[in-house]
Amino acid sequence: MNNTIIKVIHLSKIYKTEMLETIAVDDVSFEIKKGEFVAIMGPSGSGKSTLMHILGALDRPTKGTYILDGENVENLNDDELSDIRNRKIGFIFQAFNLLPRTTTLKNVMLPMTYGGVPKEKRTEIAVKYLQMVGLGDRMYHTSNQISGGQQQRVAIARSLVMDPALIMADEPTGNIATAQAEEIMAIFQKLNDEGRTIVMITHEPDIAEHAKRIILIRDGRIVSDSNNKQKRFSSSTSDKANKKQLLEKKI
Ligand code: ADP
Ligand code: MG
Repeated sequence: MNNTIIKVIHLSKIYKTEMLETIAVDDVSFEIKKGEFVAIMGPSGSGKSTLMHILGALDRPTKGTYILDGENVENLNDDELSDIRNRKIGFIFQAFNLLPRTTTLKNVMLPMTYGGVPKEKRTEIAVKYLQMVGLGDRMYHTSNQISGGQQQRVAIARSLVMDPALIMADEPTGNIATAQAEEIMAIFQKLNDEGRTIVMITHEPDIAEHAKRIILIRDGRIVSDSNNKQKRFSSSTSDKANKKQLLEKKI
């Protein structure tokens, strides 16, 4: 069994305008295996979003190879790309990207509508994931009637309904308050404990510290790639208990 979910080899992305050429991603190679929780961290302008768009099959590299869950993205046409996105990747964006004036339930059901899941199944699955992110009592609120942190939890529920091989988040806590950001990180850690693969892009060290591995990029290049030994546990009650247990085990 192949347990590599992302493999990039000498990947580059160059934006060309009449005046200027920008090398946004510059000859990057790495692998991510199933079950990892990886933070890609770097300052603004370092190429994080560009890299995420390529990893998310939303854009193609200028040079290099990208193999997503065993499929070489280079060989796929646009329809195949959008199909692979819908089946394999759950996206979470900084700005939540929910439909406004639409219930959280409908928002969460949307990928399944595109994915051809039967209607009764769609509701059942959407309710399950809304409950999982703690929003079982907000199913009929519209997305503009809930807080930023809650909106991001809806987006997380939405990212899970097609049971993706990979969850990709671009600055998931960028638009929300610190306490709510911790709740989001608690959910990510729980999802990862359940075996889900997460790639999270952030410019905030405090947020990256929740991941198991941190890839640091600057000017489109990897400057370090290491296991995160000081993994931060989120402050939810269950995680506090978890941390206490781990500490006790050490003694
Ligand atoms: P980050 O997400 O880390 O802030 P980006 O991937 O958005 O970085 O941008 C990386 C570099 O590429 C920046 O210098 C940015 O100005 C440039 N860039 C991003 N998108 C475009 C584009 N569509 N056209 C030209 N240059 C771009
Ligand atoms: Mg960005």
